[in-house]
Amino acid sequence: MDEIELAKVCETEFKEQALLFKAVLEQEGMDVMVKGLEASALGDALDGADVVELFVPVVYADRAKQMVDEILAEDGEPIPAWTCECGESVDEGFFVCWSCQAEYKPAE
Ligand SMILES: [Zn+2]
Repeated sequence: MDEIELAKVCETEFKEQALLFKAVLEQEGMDVMVKGLEASALGDALDGADVVELFVPVVYADRAKQMVDEILAEDGEPIPAWTCECGESVDEGFFVCWSCQAEYKPAE
């Protein structure tokens, strides 16, 4: 069996962001491996910061990095926790209200 060579696409401290990237890349038909999501479950067994890393097969690496860059360019920073106009509190990292589906609007 051939071993698939993986390339790191990006790393982020934000698990929600890592999961967003994974979902987007998987929609493109890529196999995505996420490393670091289980770090908290393993306690302090892992060295270093609590960082999530995304890997894809090397053949997809350029395309994947490009897509991640595009997402980052669009979003700027991860969404902070916010209060929707319907009054519900939405957790950080979510663009859409879980209750009324309204999109995130930065406070003015
Ligand atoms: Zn709402």
